[in-house]
Amino acid sequence: MLPDMSVCGFQWPVRFGRLKTLEDHNRYRGSALEKLDADRASPQPNGIACPECEAELVDTDPTGVLLSNPPKKRISCLACGYLGYRIY
Ligand SMILES: [Zn+2]
Repeated sequence: MLPDMSVCGFQWPVRFGRLKTLEDHNRYRGSALEKLDADRASPQPNGIACPECEAELVDTDPTGVLLSNPPKKRISCLACGYLGYRIY
């Protein structure tokens, strides 16, 4: 039995059959994101000068963003040990 689309508010044609399963989608996206995370996991230079020693700062966790307002990223200086945040 088809769901009652008027309840859901769908306005577009609903397709059935020959679609990927949710499990297949999540497995594929999960492995793609894991690879992306692994590639970017190490600190990345960000072109910003350290306020303490003027060496180039790095994004400490390139894949992480703090959900503050505005969003921020953790930064650090490998030369002097400065720790802070930058607006994302
Ligand atoms: Zn520094």
